[in-house]
Amino acid sequence: MAQNSAKKLDLLGMLPEEISELMARRGLEAYRSAQVTEWLYQHNARSLDAMTNLPKRLRDELAEELFITDIRALKVQVSQRDRTKKILFELSDGMTVETVLMPEAGHSTVCVSTQVGCAFGCVFCASGAGGLARNLSTGEIVDQARWAQYDPDAGRLTNIVLMGMGEPLANYEATAKAVRIFIHERCFALGKRRVTISTAGYAPGIRRLADDDLPVRLALSLHATDNKTRSRLMPINRKYPLEETLDACRLLARNRRTPLTIEYMLMRDVNDSLPEAAKLAKISLSLDAKVNLIECNPVLSGRFAAPPRERILRFQATLRNAGVLAFIRRSRGLDVEGACGQLRNAGLVADSG
Ligand code: SF4
Repeated sequence: MAQNSAKKLDLLGMLPEEISELMARRGLEAYRSAQVTEWLYQHNARSLDAMTNLPKRLRDELAEELFITDIRALKVQVSQRDRTKKILFELSDGMTVETVLMPEAGHSTVCVSTQVGCAFGCVFCASGAGGLARNLSTGEIVDQARWAQYDPDAGRLTNIVLMGMGEPLANYEATAKAVRIFIHERCFALGKRRVTISTAGYAPGIRRLADDDLPVRLALSLHATDNKTRSRLMPINRKYPLEETLDACRLLARNRRTPLTIEYMLMRDVNDSLPEAAKLAKISLSLDAKVNLIECNPVLSGRFAAPPRERILRFQATLRNAGVLAFIRRSRGLDVEGACGQLRNAGLVADSG
């Protein structure tokens, strides 16, 4: 459980049952823990002092042992194209992460970060450009979603994707606890298929997920169908090559019957040929996975370009003709650099937008 420098426990890092246990240990009645949980998730309380139906003396006593993570929005950018909102948050130690809120008609999806920066350095991604600074705590992941839940422009929060900065499965404990809070009926109460973890192919994390009962969808960022191309785009592939990553995904599918999505960013003359589409179809069918095709976004150096539209459609048709569910995903928030691969840490990357 996350602790701050004064060794206090973070209420946002605890499940309601853990809050109940803590209150019981203090000899408090059960309804007190229900009150605290309600304040956190029904009223967005950002301090113990805000919990005004708890006696002041009790609030003061609890504050000696507990705190509530309170990330601060430093900068908010709203897309003129699609109302996607990108928020730069400052954490308690001054580090920053980005979160992207995508409103649809009457509801919304939030894409949260799980690490400050990223160790894996995919060449098309701004998040990894400055390396990994640190893992986020459960409370820091959960608080991004609380912001989204209470955003006045967003509508009801119905989906959470852990696809922001960082590799969620390399920060497994904090990520898994956050997911349990997202689906808990007394917290965010999201449906079990409404939370998605994205991985760059961190095989030990996929295997761990395969042995866990975490109710979550998995999205594998594949982006190439051979080791040579994939290692060039995603250095993690040198450590966990395609065969190992796909074996881990097969284990997950076998153990958990967890629906798998393959994310494939199409880059002109890099991974967009029809033989590659045929290979991708074979991989997808072997994993019973659907495929999201993403048009490459301009990032950092602008080294990669999106293929022409007709080539994207032909790539999709090859997959569909082979029997794969394949969709072309709209890139959202491009004008505020909130699209896939565009999130970054303002403290780590000099040319932050
Ligand atoms: S794509 Fe994901 S794994 Fe790769 S550098 Fe970006 S955040 Fe890290």
